[in-house]
Amino acid sequence: MLKIETGRIIKSLSGFYDVWTENKVITCRARGSMRRTGLSPQVGDIVDISVEKGKGMVERIHPRKNSFVRPAVANLDLLVVFAANVNPVTEPFLIDRVAAIAGDQEVPVCICVNKCDMDPAEDLTAIYRQAGYTVIQTSAETGLGIDELRKALSGKFCAFTGNSGVGKSSILNALSPELKLPVGEVSEKLGRGRHTTRHVELYDVDDALIADTPGFSSFDTDQMEVILKENLQYAFPEFGRYLGQCQFRDCSHRKEPGCAVTTALAAGEIGKSRYESYLKLYEKAMQINEWELK
Ligand code: GDP
Ligand code: ZN
Repeated sequence: MLKIETGRIIKSLSGFYDVWTENKVITCRARGSMRRTGLSPQVGDIVDISVEKGKGMVERIHPRKNSFVRPAVANLDLLVVFAANVNPVTEPFLIDRVAAIAGDQEVPVCICVNKCDMDPAEDLTAIYRQAGYTVIQTSAETGLGIDELRKALSGKFCAFTGNSGVGKSSILNALSPELKLPVGEVSEKLGRGRHTTRHVELYDVDDALIADTPGFSSFDTDQMEVILKENLQYAFPEFGRYLGQCQFRDCSHRKEPGCAVTTALAAGEIGKSRYESYLKLYEKAMQINEWELK
């Protein structure tokens, strides 16, 4: 009788999967039959594996709570989006886009505003607090916010994402100095970022498991998943209290009269940059729908 064990995939490389079971890591291949179904194992997947003569085989992937293309991970408990207001300045649209993709899959988002020793980024912090996100102001230099971040991560499978050079590796080192991750000059990182793959690394930080992903640029976000235009409104938490209050039931919250969302925008209850990102994502969603119909 084959013994079946259950574990989590912590690494995926060229068709080999490292599966972390109760007390050890077993390297596995995936059954050919699984590849034919088009569902290939992803980092974060909970899988059943069989082990025969020391060789592991992924037999079944448990249903996913959620799954992402960039970063390529499944079953996240929390997505931490890094931003900074200095060297490099994070474009709000980048934050809004990943946060909306996570929201669309009902994954909690925490915004980590880093490099606060150089610039406290009060505006950025206020925008995302107003939108209803947990925002933690951090500094890898002074240690500001590190304990608060550690608490937010505790016991969870999390992913760190954000533009290159924003300080993800530095914060991982601050959380867990024994990791000794290389930290780069921003200019070098931006150059390298262009060629990065979808490779994902997992790190143990206390009782959290953290997926760090190569920093992305606007180029990468264009390859991210698109949210259906009908669902987009639900991916902006601050729209929630106004939904269902517009004059038209199928209001897209763009130019319709009697729109509760644009009224809230005019009253300053919804942030301007957030609403602009909504419009931009709506445009993208429309292009995709039209393209799919062809
Ligand atoms: P990553 O690309 O997001 O992993 O960014 P890194 O962690 O490699 O950091 C990029 C650069 O920013 C490095 O030169 C770091 O020393 C610097 N850096 C990271 N975090 C902070 C911070 O909180 N304050 C300051 N002043 N510099 C930081
Ligand atoms: Zn509306």
